[in-house]
Amino acid sequence: MPNQAADLELAAVTKAYGETIAVDKVSLKIPAGTYCCLLGPSGCGKSSTLRMIAGHEFISDGDVMIGNTVVNDLPPARRGTAMMFQNYALFPHLSVRDNVAFSLKMAGIAKAERLRRAGELLDLVDMAKYGDRLPSQLSGGQQQRVALARALVTNPTVLLLDEPLSALDPFLRIRMRAELKRYQRDFGISFVHVTHSQEEAMALADMVVVMNDGRIEQVGSPREVFNAPKTVFVAKFMGGHNVVPEAGRSYAVRADRIRLASSGEPGSAATVTDVEYQGMTVHVAMTREDGTDLLATLAESDFDRAPVAVGDRVAATWQPADRHELAA
Ligand code: ADP
Repeated sequence: MPNQAADLELAAVTKAYGETIAVDKVSLKIPAGTYCCLLGPSGCGKSSTLRMIAGHEFISDGDVMIGNTVVNDLPPARRGTAMMFQNYALFPHLSVRDNVAFSLKMAGIAKAERLRRAGELLDLVDMAKYGDRLPSQLSGGQQQRVALARALVTNPTVLLLDEPLSALDPFLRIRMRAELKRYQRDFGISFVHVTHSQEEAMALADMVVVMNDGRIEQVGSPREVFNAPKTVFVAKFMGGHNVVPEAGRSYAVRADRIRLASSGEPGSAATVTDVEYQGMTVHVAMTREDGTDLLATLAESDFDRAPVAVGDRVAATWQPADRHELAA
């Protein structure tokens, strides 16, 4: 049975928990077949948004649409979504195969058919030979693949993933990240993935949705969001940027676009406060005369050509094209 890709749309979706507005009139259209990451700090409303799409949380106001259907009042199993949780939530007493077949059993599908489909999905995630094992007999990465197979077995139009990589060690996290991206491409459906890691979002997403305090700050490709942040929050949260105040406004300049010249040359006069060797790059922290902190990330070879030390006076320069104006 082929997966049906569909657009997912949020129209002024709001979630209130008593006095707390966790999600504040969020509007967003995720085209079919998109890898979308909801990115932001803890408490910004990412999970609440995901749970409202899934149907695990009532929508206080607004609409969630999948394809042409408003799904606000549909139970989770009838929305065409599937959810993969942070801790995978596998049933410990069921075999891998039965875990994957579980939702088909709930849907009343005959045993032979559900085992066949579970087998198909296990094949797809390269876990066919572990069908008889219990979850406790699998590694973290293998458990994740089973959780993914279990979510995909219902042929969802949208897969929802809540911090799916956070239980893995850093090495495995990077490997499983690549696998998630591959499965999303293979299945051709949208994945909506909640993360607080900008690195993870940049690596995975076609569409990054940066959230802050229940609202969307910016939506764009990883390059757009990183290279042209629109707000101070996005520039600071994505990292690698300097926020430079000027005449009551601010603009952002990437740390790797700052060059250092000798004191007295044109540019921002600044004093070096820290030099950090990072291998391929050297981080030079400075304080400008107006008190603004600046960070320059220099290629090791550039640094070596004109090394600086703490206490040195320098001129920090950048090209006009590297300024990105930020909204107040
Ligand atoms: P995130 O996933 O970005 O960490 P959440 O959506 O979990 O954010 O939470 C957003 C806000 O809503 C936070 O202030 C959080 O404390 C609050 N919140 C989340 N779930 C509940 C709940 N069940 N009851 C009350 N407040 C909640």
